[in-house]
Amino acid sequence: MTLLKPSANAEPTALAPDPSSLSSRAVRAWTERMAVRQQRDGTYAVATESGHTYVVDLRDHSCTCPDHEIRGERCKHLRRVAIEITARRIAPPGRQRARCDVCEEVTFVPEEAEPPHLCGNCRVAPGDIVVDRETGDSLVVAEVMNERANEYVIEATGKTVAAHDTNDGYPKDDIVVEVTYLGDATRNDNPRRYAFPYSRLNHTDAELVG
Ligand SMILES: [Zn+2]
Ligand SMILES: [Zn+2]
Repeated sequence: MTLLKPSANAEPTALAPDPSSLSSRAVRAWTERMAVRQQRDGTYAVATESGHTYVVDLRDHSCTCPDHEIRGERCKHLRRVAIEITARRIAPPGRQRARCDVCEEVTFVPEEAEPPHLCGNCRVAPGDIVVDRETGDSLVVAEVMNERANEYVIEATGKTVAAHDTNDGYPKDDIVVEVTYLGDATRNDNPRRYAFPYSRLNHTDAELVG
């Protein structure tokens, strides 16, 4: 299991707004049955209880419904799309929903992003300095692989990352991170890479400069 970092924002909060404080359009946006679907062009199709489907475009705050087009109101469909994005049920324009490959939380990634997908809490990027929990060595992230510890075979030994005794305590299905040793990385233009299970690496706030 990968432990989730505690949320940075642990303030007590209500999940739904107080309906008595909302306008009638806002109440309908929360309470009516609507199905929201993200479309390829970045708009959202909102199917309503009454059987209509309207197209919401958040980029110009437009909706094809009469309430918006004729009365110029911020209609319940626009509001509903915003609510669903805030609740992480659908992705904002240009992004897609993905499950983090480390902690499995739902996160949003750019539409063209290749896996692995990592959420903000789990993200490591090339150049980040991490620490090997087993040895205390400082390492530099070279690449986050789209392979799990029980899939990635280390050439030198012919064994998977998960099969190495030193990785016994870490999940077999951890994603694999290729790293270099910090000393090598600073001395050598083409430092040798080593493969580690994600959970064996302790994040730091440091990154390699230059
Ligand atoms: Zn509308
Ligand atoms: Zn995550």
